[in-house]
Amino acid sequence: MQSIARDLPVVPNVEARKKPQSIPMKKLITGIVEFRRKLLPDYRKTFAKLALGQSPDTLFISCSDSRVAVNVFASTDPGDLFVIRNVGNMVPKCGCDGERTSDQSVPAAIEFALTSLNVTSIVICGHSECGAMHALTEGIEKVEGEHLKGWLKHGEDSVKELAERPEFAITLSKRNQLSQLNVLTQLNHLRTYPMVQQRLAAGTLTLHGWWFELSNADVYAYEESLGQFVIFDEIEAMRILEQLEHNAKS
Ligand SMILES: [Zn+2]
Repeated sequence: MQSIARDLPVVPNVEARKKPQSIPMKKLITGIVEFRRKLLPDYRKTFAKLALGQSPDTLFISCSDSRVAVNVFASTDPGDLFVIRNVGNMVPKCGCDGERTSDQSVPAAIEFALTSLNVTSIVICGHSECGAMHALTEGIEKVEGEHLKGWLKHGEDSVKELAERPEFAITLSKRNQLSQLNVLTQLNHLRTYPMVQQRLAAGTLTLHGWWFELSNADVYAYEESLGQFVIFDEIEAMRILEQLEHNAKS
């Protein structure tokens, strides 16, 4: 007589089970099965190599928003990026995080990226239609949830900046103006860390401000000399690569 266990398929045919579309996590769960069936054979060598260690050259800091899909818009692969994601792509200023233990997460990841992984670039990537920026424009006193309210305080410098520079990226909505300025604010917060300052002075680290525009899936890069974000086309990519090459030689 066969045991019940032997009758069970090794890989359950999840797709074959007809369930209503509304089941939470269905796409995620069936996605794992699909990955095992269709993609894992091609990825085995990659992950076996990555299991021996990671050596990403870039720390990528972006919003937790589900629509900011860096693996799609930057064609990244496993092992390419060390990633920090949080609400509003914030970086707490160095030294201002003593009272909230949750705020240590970002500084800890920055320290690990710089000291253990020796990343040579840090990108802060904001995005259009950001809920955190909307909350900041509406006033954080209206925000529900004490932790969220506390976290969004890291964006208050951006709100002040927009009040002083209302003409910045004037064609955008207020929320998106704030989102672009917030990338610059968080880069400034990043510069408050001594280990960032040391590496910038030594020329072993570069900082980059990017912005993802959702409706067209376009990436923009902050161009210091123009004081604005410019579309990340082939010309801009070439300019950034030439600058990085120049830095690496000097
Ligand atoms: Zn966001």
